[in-house]
Amino acid sequence: MAAEKFTRRIVKRSLLEIREQAMQLQQTAERALKEIASLDAIRISRWRCVHCGHVIVFTRPTAIESCGPCQMCKGPKWVPDGEGETKVD
Ligand SMILES: [Zn+2]
Repeated sequence: MAAEKFTRRIVKRSLLEIREQAMQLQQTAERALKEIASLDAIRISRWRCVHCGHVIVFTRPTAIESCGPCQMCKGPKWVPDGEGETKVD
């Protein structure tokens, strides 16, 4: 009986650890989604490819989805040009 109680306690503890990790994952995912959403909302005229540094210049403020893959390296990732990092948070 003591062993059964011990096992139950271990199972309960691992479930709590799993729940804790799942909640951390959820927070990370929510943060990432928020960052993506705020990047979608940015409209600027200069986007820089993070892979090769190529800069696309639009004649007016444009959202990131207009960039498409980089013309030089086919890289898919862009950041606002003229900033060290994306101004997202
Ligand atoms: Zn590129």
